[in-house]
Amino acid sequence: MSSLLVENILNNKETVVKGEPDLSYEDLKKGSEKVADFLLSEKGDLTGKTVLSFLKPGEDYLYAMIGTWLAGGIFVPMPVSYPMSELEHYVKDSQSDVLLTSFSDLKKQLPDSFPFLQIGFVDRIVDDEKISGHLGVDVNEDDSALMIYTSGTTGKPKGVVHTFASIKSQVDTLIDAWKWRKSDYIVNPLPMHHVHGIVNITLCALTVGAKVEFLKFNKKELYDKLRNSDSTVFMAVPTIYRKLIDEHESRDISEQEDFTKACQSMRLMVSGSAALPLSVLKKWQEISGHFLLERYGMSETGMVLSNDYEGDRFEGMVGKPLKGIEVKIATEEESSNTGELLVKGDQLFKEYWNKPEATNEAFDQDGWFKTGDRVKVSENGVFKILGRYSVDILKVGGYKISSNDIEEVLRKHEFVKDAAVVGIPNEEYGEVIAAAIVFKDEYSQEKYLSVLEDYALLHLARHKIPQIWKRVEELPQNAMGKVVKPKVKELISQSLN
Ligand code: ATP
Ligand code: MG
Repeated sequence: MSSLLVENILNNKETVVKGEPDLSYEDLKKGSEKVADFLLSEKGDLTGKTVLSFLKPGEDYLYAMIGTWLAGGIFVPMPVSYPMSELEHYVKDSQSDVLLTSFSDLKKQLPDSFPFLQIGFVDRIVDDEKISGHLGVDVNEDDSALMIYTSGTTGKPKGVVHTFASIKSQVDTLIDAWKWRKSDYIVNPLPMHHVHGIVNITLCALTVGAKVEFLKFNKKELYDKLRNSDSTVFMAVPTIYRKLIDEHESRDISEQEDFTKACQSMRLMVSGSAALPLSVLKKWQEISGHFLLERYGMSETGMVLSNDYEGDRFEGMVGKPLKGIEVKIATEEESSNTGELLVKGDQLFKEYWNKPEATNEAFDQDGWFKTGDRVKVSENGVFKILGRYSVDILKVGGYKISSNDIEEVLRKHEFVKDAAVVGIPNEEYGEVIAAAIVFKDEYSQEKYLSVLEDYALLHLARHKIPQIWKRVEELPQNAMGKVVKPKVKELISQSLN
């Protein structure tokens, strides 16, 4: 029998993907069974083996994912927006010998070093009358099913392996917490190689029999899509909310009113994957009527902490542990409520692909997964994310300083569009604080940095005032809109030399 995850999805009826034309669950099943047939006849039972996918979000992607699962394999979605040279890392690291795509010229672009890689063209497989479709092989719930590469915010992306059971557990938790239902319809502008787009949006929707519409992110198109659709739920990263706000401000009153009305009729809007700036939370509430539900999670754990669907939501906080998740704080000497967040539960990943040492190091002696994130919990059990120990928590002359706090203050200045704060190594203090500033267009001049320095003197404690300031056109970000701090450090260090 195939996994419960797949059974649940394929038991649905009616429409699954909204588009031109719509795709039904019936068609999804047929297409996936054909991909499974192709994989099984070419490669045999794929249990424990990786299948790469180089596919845009959409129907072919879903056929490939579910087809791989029917064949017992580990689905490995690659980013489609990166340059080909970056893909070498994924092909090499995953050790896969089969890749599913619908880009007809992909073969020519792949490095010569991969002659062993067999390519399956999903669009052709699904249209091929000779391929009849395979119901799939028997799988165990504990078999590996999905490998998601981390965002690579702090280093090279690591392959995080999940089982059918851990993914199903993540899906079940979110369906319950955020009240997913069959009548839901969600527009998904996120890339399909991270947990946010794959699990939180697509697999939750598919499991309850709801509708998804895939849309490559573009602020104009997304704004119009939301304005004109009767979608019920929306989930995105802070950068997308920020860009939608910009777009809103450029529209005329009647379009703005339509947008506001469409948002108001939705039942839920969620933000996550990176810290949600307060300015974005507030502005979004003004234009949409929604106090964004902020949550926290990782590729390794799925969603861990979430504000309430029905109860109170707290600004600048990510809420409480989701049902079925255990958390603990490895507290620091100075305080009893602050430290590294540790996590346990059925949702957790099985291993880092081919990195037994990294897997071992990721857990403490009692089996708690060490997130690497510094958190603070309030008296009523609500969590705040202070940042990653590796890049966001600066050690300056004995103090531990959260770059997020400083960024939040700098962003409040009327000239500032965005800010990233990093630590630059320093012999005397360990690290000194450096700020990279993106000014709003009308203030984009070097001279305004000194205005900001004066402002920092007034609004930040002495030990939190940046010593180094740099104006930049934009902050280096990855596909999930996360600021890549090591690149910011590099940029600032270079300008010091
Ligand atoms: P890498 O591990 O390769 O450096 P990454 O950690 O960014 O990349 P992901 O697993 O995609 O890869 O992201 C998880 C991280 O995102 C968390 O550890 C946390 O630092 C951050 N994060 C997620 N949600 C939030 C949130 N609501 N607020 C602040 N940070 C968040
Ligand atoms: Mg990480």
